[in-house]
Amino acid sequence: MTQGANPKAVRLVMELRQAGIHDVRVLGAIEKVPRDLFVPPLFQDRAYENVALPIGHNQTISQPEVVAFMTQALEVGDRHKVLEVGTGSGYQTAVLARLCRRVFTIERHRALLQEADQRFAKLRRHNITSRFGDGTKGWPEQAPFDRILVTAAAATLPQRLIDSLGEGGVLVAPIGEERREQQLVRLRRQSGQILTEEMGPVRFVPLVAGLPRERPGLSGPE
Ligand code: SAH
Repeated sequence: MTQGANPKAVRLVMELRQAGIHDVRVLGAIEKVPRDLFVPPLFQDRAYENVALPIGHNQTISQPEVVAFMTQALEVGDRHKVLEVGTGSGYQTAVLARLCRRVFTIERHRALLQEADQRFAKLRRHNITSRFGDGTKGWPEQAPFDRILVTAAAATLPQRLIDSLGEGGVLVAPIGEERREQQLVRLRRQSGQILTEEMGPVRFVPLVAGLPRERPGLSGPE
């Protein structure tokens, strides 16, 4: 069965085009991923607005424009093996999964990861492998990666992630302190060297090393 285009998603893609997103593969993926599935019930009516929304545990589903910009900056190809650090709602993961061979994604909040996994199952996306853990440590068993996307901001990029990038690989990450100016940076490993480019200012929740304390029966802010 073929489904017609979602008019709200089509409108969102038009907005993203106007905002300067030009990669047609990226725009196509955004049009096809149902963002309403990744947004909590309270914000359903805003699911296709170009805004970040809360998903619990002090985290947010990223603004579609930022997801599109980062995905475009990552230059994802359909043969690529991709590592994502910070699954969150899983929205960015689902967009990546439409564009590459396999996505490995890590999240340090168990509850968020469980919800994201349910969404991946509903979408019947079989090229996503997820793990609960601290993404600053990378995913050594699966390294090297062709592409690495970090969706939370670190003051400095963990060396383990840079080391996990294969030759010709690209890593995109927000760098900077919480509530301060952050820069989206793109690293490229070329002939054994790391080339760095600044892609513009962004604002992300922090990349936190280690895991939150889990207290059965209580749900804290973390
Ligand atoms: N791209 C996501 C938004 C991610 S928000 C989306 O579209 O929904 C950033 C996520 O990174 C949060 O869920 C946060 O819990 C997670 N995170 C922060 N530090 C982390 C770490 N060290 N390892 C894994 N996940 C981390």
